[in-house]
Amino acid sequence: TNDNLQGYAPICLGAEDFYIRRLYLRIQDCFGRPIASAPDVWFDVVERYSNDNNKTLKRTGNISRCLNLGSYNYLGFGGADEYCTPRAIESLKRFSPSTCSSRVDGGTTLLHNELEECVARFVRKPAAIVFGMGYVTNSAILPVLIGKGGLIVSDSLNHNSAINGARGSGAIIRVFQHNSPDHLEEVLREQIAEGQPRTHRPWKKILVIVEGIYSMEGDFCKLPDIIAICKKYKAYIYLDEAHSIGAVGKTGRGVCELLGVDTADVDIMMGTFSKSFGSCGGYIAGSKELIQYLKYTCPAHLYATSISPPAAQQIISSIKVILGENGSNRGVEKLSQIRENSNFFRSELIKMGFEVLGDSDSPIMPIMLYNPAKIPAFSRECLKKNVAVVMVAFPATPLLLARARMCISASHTKEDLIKALEVISQVGDLVGIKYLLGEADKQ
Ligand code: PMP
Repeated sequence: TNDNLQGYAPICLGAEDFYIRRLYLRIQDCFGRPIASAPDVWFDVVERYSNDNNKTLKRTGNISRCLNLGSYNYLGFGGADEYCTPRAIESLKRFSPSTCSSRVDGGTTLLHNELEECVARFVRKPAAIVFGMGYVTNSAILPVLIGKGGLIVSDSLNHNSAINGARGSGAIIRVFQHNSPDHLEEVLREQIAEGQPRTHRPWKKILVIVEGIYSMEGDFCKLPDIIAICKKYKAYIYLDEAHSIGAVGKTGRGVCELLGVDTADVDIMMGTFSKSFGSCGGYIAGSKELIQYLKYTCPAHLYATSISPPAAQQIISSIKVILGENGSNRGVEKLSQIRENSNFFRSELIKMGFEVLGDSDSPIMPIMLYNPAKIPAFSRECLKKNVAVVMVAFPATPLLLARARMCISASHTKEDLIKALEVISQVGDLVGIKYLLGEADKQ
């Protein structure tokens, strides 16, 4: 359709069914193996990340380094850090890479207990339990919290790990429109009469599942309104803060801090360590009784190898930096840097005429492509100019709502962001996705 884009013709041309089939194959590959027919469309294999806090990455077979706008390294802890790294190395020597044991069979080290205390304190809950993987935290905890006879009411854009956990629980699942308190209320009203006591209604338990920042949209949960509805209908609330914990709020404590919500109003707080903390794993924080119950009953606590000690130490150290307990104000600086970077980048993209999703202060910035045929062109042209972005498309989004998603980090400098903006602007012109340009020009 466009001379400049001839290299991408296979996805643009052909009979309808061929087009759909090709698209589907490509997108499957986005979650699995790279595709031979369209090299560089998605990052294939990364040879190494830079030691400048993963700000850049080097792809195999490609001599140049790319500016990394694809990782969830929000605070820049995902790389060498003057405080965290020496401590992680020390813990490696003292505790080894793995405990090779489950938490109840000798896999609980001093570090694991320290981590749980540290997380509970950080998220302002009485207690916490940690797991070796964020994905497993959702998928293994939900079936312990709720089962047959229960009702789960889930935001339509919740992460796959929560969907899997919900499905595995045996509870009935109802989905409410993304971030719509009104629709949540409508769904709840259909299921129970308002004000009915918990003991007199058809559900043993009702659990509403939401996220702090939605990873494909970049918007914040309308938590205060959702909490009010949960209280009205006596439903428990489960908040996944994978993308918000550490990244937003004055002291990095996530959406509750940002939106002025008392954490006592959130029954179950979940989060992951793979983003702001530059490590891996997940947590559940809640009342002492809840956490004790989970420790006795959750199979992923009883039967899975405990989180790797250096990973645990990395989390403890990064929380200490965020809270300034390492004796410096680097944490506060990182938090104000990510806010400043995100707001600068978002407003520049909007000025250029891109349709950008999400809220200000959010480090997740999806720009809409809509037409799936534009995905490989956008991604490949950015990579040619050494900027790596993540393309998000079906099945992660509806077929015609394809987007490119940028994640901003505190470790990006102003120069990095300006360079990235220049590249994105040029590629945006080439691919034709500055959909707001007409309107912006008129103003
Ligand atoms: N919840 C959400 C909202 C996520 O976005 C993710 C992964 N990006 C997870 C849970 C799973 O976390 P992890 O990658 O740390 O396993």
